[in-house]
Amino acid sequence: SITAEHLRTWLERFHDEILEHKDELTDLDQAIGDGDHGINMARGVKEMHKMLNGKSFDAPGDLLKAVSMTFIGKIGGASGPLYGSALMKMASRASSDETLTEEEWINVLEAGKVAIQQRGKAETGEKTMVDVWAPLIERFQKQKEIDWQLFQTTAEELMQSTKEMHAKKGRAAYLGARSVGHIDPGAMSSYLFFKTLAETLQ
Ligand code: ADP
Ligand code: MG
Ligand code: MG
Repeated sequence: SITAEHLRTWLERFHDEILEHKDELTDLDQAIGDGDHGINMARGVKEMHKMLNGKSFDAPGDLLKAVSMTFIGKIGGASGPLYGSALMKMASRASSDETLTEEEWINVLEAGKVAIQQRGKAETGEKTMVDVWAPLIERFQKQKEIDWQLFQTTAEELMQSTKEMHAKKGRAAYLGARSVGHIDPGAMSSYLFFKTLAETLQ
């Protein structure tokens, strides 16, 4: 079962991967946006790392709530409120249970997906982080046990699928057809979010 300590390990890995891929995220956003996604995400995860070091958590929901506040306050741009509200809704879906089964955990992720779509109003196929979140979670929902290796591979394929998409939401939409040929930066950071989750829970 999944505890707050698993989530701490996961999000520390996410921190490391974002910092490792900061320039790549920024280059992707340079191609189709305003070139700050790596900077925004790095600022958020560094602040999260500091926050996590100073606190202990009894339940997954408590940790998710604290991380959501940090992300809302520190990431900025379009992605800050999207990740922040995802984690906020995930926290309330996790309630105060101290452990979650994998099936319950997928429902927690589903609450995050719903929050992103409510806030950003993007559908799949519009070249945003939704193209990773929505099909990934829909595919693994209602499964009692998750094949985390397959989960990670699926997330990677979904990130890659944004390359040929024509952006309809966010700054990249201003480029129209010229957005084709580049992976969406938010899809890449979301891939790192789910890859590090899979590595932690496998
Ligand atoms: P900004 O575009 O404000 O500079 P970021 O560069 O940090 O913010 O984040 C850009 C990412 O946010 C995009 O690559 C995309 O994945 C995501 N995004 C932007 N608008 C939306 C939206 N309406 N719905 C879902 N995701 C979005
Ligand atoms: Mg940007
Ligand atoms: Mg910006």
